[in-house]
Parts: sequence; C-alpha cells; structure tokens
Amino acid sequence: MSEDPQPESSALSGLKIASHAPLDDAQRAGRMKCTRCGCSRMFFCYSCGALVGLQPGDVPRVTLPVKIDIIKHPNETDGKSTAVQAKLLAPQDVTIHTYPCIPELDQSTENIVLVFPGPDAMSVEELWEYFCADGRPRVKRVKGEAESLRCPIQRVVFIDSTWNQTSRIITDERLQALPNVELKSRKTCFWRRQKGSPDTYLATIEAIYYFLKDLHCHYFCEYTGEYDNLLFFFSFLHKLINKAKQAAGKA
Ligand SMILES: [Zn+2]
Repeated sequence: MSEDPQPESSALSGLKIASHAPLDDAQRAGRMKCTRCGCSRMFFCYSCGALVGLQPGDVPRVTLPVKIDIIKHPNETDGKSTAVQAKLLAPQDVTIHTYPCIPELDQSTENIVLVFPGPDAMSVEELWEYFCADGRPRVKRVKGEAESLRCPIQRVVFIDSTWNQTSRIITDERLQALPNVELKSRKTCFWRRQKGSPDTYLATIEAIYYFLKDLHCHYFCEYTGEYDNLLFFFSFLHKLINKAKQAAGKA
C-alpha cells in the first residue's frame, strides 16, 4: 500500500487561491457566535450570509463579468448549501433568492440565461450565436471595459437545490422563458454528494465557477485564474474533509 498522502482532487489543485492562513487561524479559534443571529458557526453564517471569526480583509473579493442570481429551494438545508459562499466572495455581483421569490428577470433589457441541463440547453459557446445572430449583441451594452462588450449575456440564474427538489423550481412558469445553458460535463468534488445524484451534479459554487471559467475562455481571453477565489472556502473545506477521512482511515 502506498504511504503517500492521498492527493488532493486534481480539479482543485493548481488553483490561484488567496492564502488560507486566516481560515487556519479561525479554525484553531473554534466556532463563534454569529453577530447577527447568535448561532454558533465556523468561518461564516450560512443563515445570515455573514463572516464569523473572520474580517472582510481575510477573504478575497472576486469581481464577476455577469450578475448572478441564485434561487434557493426553501427546504434546502442552509448548512449544506454552497450558495452563500458565492455571496460572501462576490457580494456585489451575487444575489440569493429563496423560492418562491425569484429575481426580476427583464429580458428586454438584459440577456439572461438559466444554467440547467436538458435536451434544449445550449453550451456556453453557443450563447453568442443565440443572442447575437445579426453580429451585434441584442442588448445595448453599458459602457465599460472592453471585455464586457464581447460578453453575450449580462445575467445568469442558478438553482440551488437538491437533485430531487429542483423540478418544482425549474417548472415555474416565470423561468420558462429563459434559455437554458448547460455546463460541459464536470465531476463534482463535493463531499456531500447526494444519494442517487450523478457525480456530474455539481455543488452550486462549483457550477458558478465552471460556468464563469467557460464564459471567460470563450469570450474574453486565456483563463488565468480570475475566478479561482470563488473556491476559497470550498477548497479549504474539501482539504479539511480529506484530512479527516485520512485520519479516520489510519485510526
Ligand atoms: Zn447568523
């Protein structure tokens, strides 16, 4: 048997992630009370979307090229949801809604897509043709960085829910008008994989990360880790779980 420690999942290695030292410190300090709700939490409060035992400067800020709306199933256990991580790391671009609340989706002013697999779903690569058939974006773009001018979409909707609960949200008529996009097949690194779900069923934070990476590769330039920090908490927690598993295996 190999003596080597189990290698980190290759999908999570080589990421450009800010120092995890503040998370190591916070972990040593132990659980603390969330200043908003008083619940005992580690790193952040998934109910309030607030940092716990960490300062804003301890956590990287990621700027996204599109606005992201996450629709959370009301029965989804907050502690198992990774949606709040996106909100904490990209607060200016991410909004979380609890179903049946859904965001205002005005397709006359923005190009909006829903990330969901299915027979009619297009790939990220096909977005340009779909929205810009005449060679011009259907939507007048706000003046900004040159990058944003080439991006065919402005808003992306994700559903944060277990595999089984998703159908109630996806069949909501308010979402029917949105074109669907699916991610290229990726395997999840999520340690709380749901029973019966395929290993391509990603945690929400993984799905957001891979979507943005695809978008960047197709419409901007070479990807050089711009959104890697979205996995700041995810990669740390993944590392912890792996360590715990190894320790349990050796005991
Ligand atoms: Zn709280």
